[in-house]
Amino acid sequence: MEKTVQLYEGKAKKVFATTDPAYYIVDYKDDATAFNGLKKGTIQGKGEINNRVTNHLMGLLEKNGVPTHLVRELSPRETLVKKVAIVPLEVIVRNIAAGSLAKRLGLEEGTKLGRTVLEFCYKNDELGDPMVNDYHILAMGWATEAELKLISDYSLKINQVLSDYLAEAGIELIDFKLEFGKTDDGTIVLADEISPDTCRFWDIKTHEKLDKDRFRRDLGGVEDAYKEILRRLLGE
Ligand code: UDP
Repeated sequence: MEKTVQLYEGKAKKVFATTDPAYYIVDYKDDATAFNGLKKGTIQGKGEINNRVTNHLMGLLEKNGVPTHLVRELSPRETLVKKVAIVPLEVIVRNIAAGSLAKRLGLEEGTKLGRTVLEFCYKNDELGDPMVNDYHILAMGWATEAELKLISDYSLKINQVLSDYLAEAGIELIDFKLEFGKTDDGTIVLADEISPDTCRFWDIKTHEKLDKDRFRRDLGGVEDAYKEILRRLLGE
């Protein structure tokens, strides 16, 4: 499958059409942004790491009954995926309070939540991805009731599979962001990425941050943290 025209360039990836209309190619970049694009930088090697980590975790999810857009890895930073229409929601799954939740509710980062929390944000950069609830989603027609139920069920299942798997690698899954897409036949599948850009990964023992918070908060050791995640998950 060959790339044809570039359809879209986002903050972390480019998406290309291919010679087959049912497939796209995603190409991961080393560019890093935070705070809705206000902070910009480069994380050397990030594109390859995020591509490989995403595909590894999506493969694991497929094996556990969660359908994804993954078809196959084409090169260190490029992957063939099913063409989907992205559902304009960011699904945030939280196990431990951190980031915006810790701030909003006045919780200390690292506070264990009594149960898993799901949040939905409307995917719109101009509006800063505002948080919305089920009523907004149904009223705006961003998903049907059945789709929303499926997306919520998949998100909780993904949390379970990933939390267990990552714990084996000495990583605590604090929170993460998911995006779903709809194939031409209406099937809901997991799309986008699952990487240190979109998850909070803490070392299970030391609680050292191994994710994009190192970039957001100028903690240093950004590249090393991404490499460490690749090493723990893919053994290299
Ligand atoms: N997240 C993301 N993209 C976004 C917003 C959040 O990937 O546009 C991820 C983020 O990396 C974290 C989780 O979702 O793992 C929860 O993020 P939070 O709401 O705490 O926002 P932040 O503190 O990142 O602004």
